[in-house]
Amino acid sequence: MNMNTNTDYQIVPLSAFNDNYIWLLRRGDQAAVVDPGDAAPVLAYLEREQLNLCAILATHHHGDHIGGIEDLLTRYAAPVFGPAGEPIATLTRTLTDGEHIQLPQLGADFEVMAIPGHTRAHIAYYGRNHSTCGVLFCGDTLFASGCGRVFEGTPPQMRHSLARLAALPGATRVYCAHEYTQANIRFALAVEPENIQLHDRAKEVADLRAANHPTVPTTISAELLVNPFLRWDAPAVIAAAQRISGKPLTQPDEVFAAIREWKNRY
Ligand code: ZN
Ligand code: FE
Repeated sequence: MNMNTNTDYQIVPLSAFNDNYIWLLRRGDQAAVVDPGDAAPVLAYLEREQLNLCAILATHHHGDHIGGIEDLLTRYAAPVFGPAGEPIATLTRTLTDGEHIQLPQLGADFEVMAIPGHTRAHIAYYGRNHSTCGVLFCGDTLFASGCGRVFEGTPPQMRHSLARLAALPGATRVYCAHEYTQANIRFALAVEPENIQLHDRAKEVADLRAANHPTVPTTISAELLVNPFLRWDAPAVIAAAQRISGKPLTQPDEVFAAIREWKNRY
């Protein structure tokens, strides 16, 4: 077996703005980027590492995720993948739920998952051909210990999207687009002050941030233990949602909506 042609692409975080991550995938002399809100850090990395840009992937239309695409296209003739149904003028290939895309230069294959809620046609890219585990690029939908704001969809839509992601294999590495973890954990602790795993995670995250390291990727299995936006079935989360909304809540959608609404004001 030739290990060179079978090696997986590496995934590198490029910091942008205050707290965005642009994820760069690389193998050999080829690279792709997910959600390049700013071209400058991508161009600097590609030039320093002597890489060609072979694809651009977008999860949704917000400027901090697509703002760099036009500049990148002036330097590299890369196809631009993104969701059908969102205003992204630079797309060359629009994607809908269940489609697969191939990036042969990286040996990558991604399944497109429609995960509306943050925006009306937000998508995630799920790769299953990684040798160690699956990888998920989920933009502003699932964050480490949190989730995106519900701007264009409804809370039930967002919960359904998060439930789809939560159903992926536990080892799936979750590459979200922001370093929001510490603030998310402060809120999560307000929801579930007695969640032991959450306290452990808070300490781990504090250590990572003190050393200026990213707290992402996280994993689906880790999020299921600590993320209040995936824990609408947990008695402590239901109790907190009922307390904050001042009424009995029986449905997961109601629990999720109450917690999301609380976070908006937190
Ligand atoms: Zn966004
Ligand atoms: Fe964003």
